[in-house]
Amino acid sequence: MGPVNSTTRPVFRFAPSPNGRLHLGHAYSALLNAKMAQEAGGRFLVRIEDTDQTRCTPELARECLADLAWLGLVWEEPVRVQSEHFADYDAALARLHAMGAIYPCFCSRKEVAAHALAARDPDGQPLYGGTCRRLSRAEGLARIAADARHGWRMDMAGAEEPAAPQWGDVMIAKRHVGSSYHIAVVVDDALQGVTHVVRGRDMEAATAIHLLLQRLLGLPSPHYHHHDLIRDDAGQKLSKSLKSASLASLRAAGVAAADVRAQLGF
Ligand code: GLU
Repeated sequence: MGPVNSTTRPVFRFAPSPNGRLHLGHAYSALLNAKMAQEAGGRFLVRIEDTDQTRCTPELARECLADLAWLGLVWEEPVRVQSEHFADYDAALARLHAMGAIYPCFCSRKEVAAHALAARDPDGQPLYGGTCRRLSRAEGLARIAADARHGWRMDMAGAEEPAAPQWGDVMIAKRHVGSSYHIAVVVDDALQGVTHVVRGRDMEAATAIHLLLQRLLGLPSPHYHHHDLIRDDAGQKLSKSLKSASLASLRAAGVAAADVRAQLGF
């Protein structure tokens, strides 16, 4: 085999949302990505997914990177920070809107609940009843021009998509909080040439949405691998239950990074 060509090297990424400190579950995912990248002779990227500006802060983003460095991880610079690229995500939304794949939704949380369908999506939210799907395009645009709060939903009516029955008209961007998570993740994975998405099982159901968005936007689909979640003794997801196990708190308690790695099997 000749020298590894950068265009064919696999690209892995760890993409934390800095809305809190990283915990052992994040450490596991980051270490697994770095290890798989290394074993494949590939590249390892870190991406800051901070489109939700109501919950993410630059301070938390800095601390995330510091925690990863403490673990001994090395990634390529520069780190892509999603809040610096809203224009890219807006352009993708505009394309989807132009092709009729999404529509703006002006419903409050209360209105969504009042007209929700009985079924729930994989995140436990009731499926959207479709109120704003019935608005005309002109009316939607007029309300946006008048600065009405809105998000964007996939129009799944009649769609023969694996994502359709599971997710219904799922919200893919919440403009008033600057959050466009599903859009940002597929746009960036394509832009950064990510070939392998390795993330927790809690993201598995969202992959159907990501595959759909990639197809609509003409973007390549990476390989997906969803790893088991690290659990505490009570079997709860660490992210929700074990605040005390943040990497920062372990470090403050004098735990060595090598011990954390060993405990996680790296
Ligand atoms: N930013 C997401 C999170 O922290 C992960 C997204 C992904 O890996 O695709 O939950």
